[in-house]
Amino acid sequence: MLSVNEALTLVLEHAQPLPPRKMLAAEALGCVLGEPVVSDIDSPPHDKSIVDGYAVQAATVTQAGAVLTIVEEVTAGALPTKSVEPGTATRIMTGAPIPAGADAVVMFEQTALQDENRVRIDAKAVKAGQNIMRRASSLTRGQTVLQPPAVLRGIELGILAEVGYQHALAIPRPKALVLATGNELVDFWEKPGPGQIRNSNSLLLWGLATQAGAYPGLGCVIRDDRESLRGTLAKSLNNALLIISGGVSAGVLDLVPQVLADLGVEQVFHKVNLKPGKPLWFGVKRFEGTEQKTLVFGLPGNPVSSLVCFELFVRPAIQKLSGREPTGLARGKARLTRDHSQRGERPAYWPADLQRGESPAVTPLPWKGSGDLATLAGANCLALFPAGERLFKAGEEVEVLHLPD
Ligand code: AMP
Ligand code: MG
Repeated sequence: MLSVNEALTLVLEHAQPLPPRKMLAAEALGCVLGEPVVSDIDSPPHDKSIVDGYAVQAATVTQAGAVLTIVEEVTAGALPTKSVEPGTATRIMTGAPIPAGADAVVMFEQTALQDENRVRIDAKAVKAGQNIMRRASSLTRGQTVLQPPAVLRGIELGILAEVGYQHALAIPRPKALVLATGNELVDFWEKPGPGQIRNSNSLLLWGLATQAGAYPGLGCVIRDDRESLRGTLAKSLNNALLIISGGVSAGVLDLVPQVLADLGVEQVFHKVNLKPGKPLWFGVKRFEGTEQKTLVFGLPGNPVSSLVCFELFVRPAIQKLSGREPTGLARGKARLTRDHSQRGERPAYWPADLQRGESPAVTPLPWKGSGDLATLAGANCLALFPAGERLFKAGEEVEVLHLPD
């Protein structure tokens, strides 16, 4: 059976960054930039005042108490029409262009109005250049302000807007379709009858995929029969990712791998040495004559198995398709707050509560196994216990994988 690392390597070999496309700047939030962004303007576009006050000639205001004649008022968005001479000042607001002749701005708080047309400067000293932001001091026309592979956060969207990019070339969020299989499933808004359970995986995986940067769709529940599976899966292969829950274990109705094979999805691996999540299935659908591919994940149906497989394999695939480093969950080390006994031949990813800080401490939760999702409401990490049978003592250091907020 493949190790987690071997399986991840195979997943990442098949996941290639999607081609960038032009999209609205707002749509590109969280995406990786696909082109250099060049400014079409100087910023600021003019020498501008950074305070509300009076524009003056610094060299001519040599002592506190000088009284100057106000020649005009310039607000942001307006242009000065008069130059400032010795003995005069222009009332100026933040952002407005500095009038000719002026080389400093004294803020209102350091002045006193004498009458409608005259102001007294109370500042002890006025230095040339004070309170002025020079033209092009932030960026110049023709300057490259962003480069691939920058990730477009709110900050970068603001920069795109500043330099006139209504659209940007960026790697789109990979489209992912989430499907659940199982005769026992009812939709989550229904009351389960005898033998039934609600389909919690679809929303769980949709949420995880959204948080991981994909653009997921929520598909229907598919019954465990070949025709239903074939019909729905055949129509679902036009996504960058297909995330299927259930139907990949060893049960008589676990038909997903067979149906995918019938639909031309090449199996890359089936089963990985981990707990929970061993039945994980991964394959690739190629489309003749194109570079297009669909990565197909068959996740085990138990919700926590699905979650663990998502975090270990699907998240890095989404990152890679998105042009990001496929780092998966952030990892760290923490000391156990209590003993934990690990049994079994597979490395275990155990839901746990991590106290961050100078010496991180981790408490494995009283988790009942892969069907127990409810306990994970209190989990903020997975603690990794290597395979083998042994008691991990309180105080021992273990590896932890941080679950995203
Ligand atoms: P399977 O991997 O299809 O054998 O499913 C294993 C178990 O996971 C099932 O017996 C269900 O209890 C549970 N399960 C399967 N699919 C879902 C789902 N969509 N939502 C919640 N639990 C599920
Ligand atoms: Mg099933």
